[in-house]
Amino acid sequence: MNIILLGPPGAGKGTQAQKLVDSRKMVQLSTGDMLREARTSGTEMGQKVAAVMDAGNLVTDEIVIGLIREKLEAGGAEGGFIFDGFPRTLAQADALGDLLSEMGQTLDCAIELQVNDEILVERILGRAADAVAAGGTARADDNEESLKTRLMAYYKQTSPLIGYYHAKGDLKSVDGLASMDDVAASIKVALV
Ligand code: AMP
Repeated sequence: MNIILLGPPGAGKGTQAQKLVDSRKMVQLSTGDMLREARTSGTEMGQKVAAVMDAGNLVTDEIVIGLIREKLEAGGAEGGFIFDGFPRTLAQADALGDLLSEMGQTLDCAIELQVNDEILVERILGRAADAVAAGGTARADDNEESLKTRLMAYYKQTSPLIGYYHAKGDLKSVDGLASMDDVAASIKVALV
């Protein structure tokens, strides 16, 4: 089973992806995590995307499609893949469809986590504060200014994917404002 978790920053995609990894032995593919890893390891690509990410803008389709292609070609996901934070543009959605069909696979569904903006801002600024309180550092893009840009990127570039997957008959929407466990239960129902 291959699924997409769709929703704005702070909707809980990463949390729910982790739950699916634990319960269904699926493999989480988070382009955000891959890009942060590229930055930490100091690759040329990592350096190139740093400023774009910190400002809250999307990196190029070419880069993220390349990252996903590599992971899909590496295989090893008997339980299937969870795409977390990818695709974020229509071009990425088309590319994902092509990549999966090249591999003889299909997308089972795109799950939209529905939330509202006020909650997102609270959750993300809370995540930043928690990281600092735990003695770590907050994500460079978990600040109010970058968050505004990230939300705008979501509405302009990513939210059209909801219509795209709806038209394909692949969209399932769940209430992302419920508790973590209730959201997980709704996703379970959506995947039956
Ligand atoms: P995330 O961890 O999913 O919130 O992603 C953090 C940042 O990485 C985003 O704000 C973008 O700058 C970049 N990014 C992650 N995934 C993508 C994607 N699919 N397309 C373009 N940029 C992405």
